[in-house]
Amino acid sequence: MSVWLQENSWEELKILRDRAKGVAIVPIGSTEQHGCHLPLGTDTMVAVMLAEDGASATETVAVPPIWYGWSPHHMVLPGTITIRPEVLIELFYDVMESLSRHGFDKIVAINGHRIVNVSWMQIAAERAQRILGIKVVIFDPAYMSKEFAETAGFGPVGHSEEIETSHMLYRMPQLVHMERARDNPVEPHPLYSVDPCFRGDTLCYVPSTAKDMERSALLAGGTTGTPSKSDADAGRRYHEHLVRNLTQVIRGLQAGGKR
Ligand SMILES: [Zn+2]
Repeated sequence: MSVWLQENSWEELKILRDRAKGVAIVPIGSTEQHGCHLPLGTDTMVAVMLAEDGASATETVAVPPIWYGWSPHHMVLPGTITIRPEVLIELFYDVMESLSRHGFDKIVAINGHRIVNVSWMQIAAERAQRILGIKVVIFDPAYMSKEFAETAGFGPVGHSEEIETSHMLYRMPQLVHMERARDNPVEPHPLYSVDPCFRGDTLCYVPSTAKDMERSALLAGGTTGTPSKSDADAGRRYHEHLVRNLTQVIRGLQAGGKR
């Protein structure tokens, strides 16, 4: 049987739910510009790959992805679709409410869109825990790869940089066009970084303005970072590190212990 909810009948799903001990994985991403070398769906694709492998490793259920995120700052380039966070909160909450009605009482939300999606996901998750009495964890690859990042040789988190590009080169090389990749190294900003591994003091994140993004669009087609340093094998190791952590999170939920 497939780990994907949408590929099973409702009768099969009941079997899968019991086997999963009530755990459902919700991949959430974005549809937004990812430079000239990566597809617009990169963030959702990354969340889907992790959901699929995490679900297979733990016999849990992956549900249809939420392909949209909060992306107002990427509207400077075509193809970006941004949804208002208040709508996303309601959408994610309704997905969780439906799942909980059918016996899934532990939700793992995988966020492929990094820090920008986290704020609204937290609000929806808190509401679901309080009102529905379920457990929700947010699994964010940028936060869940801090140990790996120390040894990987990747630069800081940017946008369509070597981290995302390596990940995509590992799993979806047919959608990556390295000949079109343009570097635009992340500039060190005192007191401001979107990289969870940044060791200095930081201001809280607010999405960039359209003006900021126009600059990166002009300089490197929307990329911030150094995609020329990408490597499929590093992408594989990054992915495997994340799946190991994801497996640990899910097993912890299934055991009913601490996360
Ligand atoms: Zn991305």
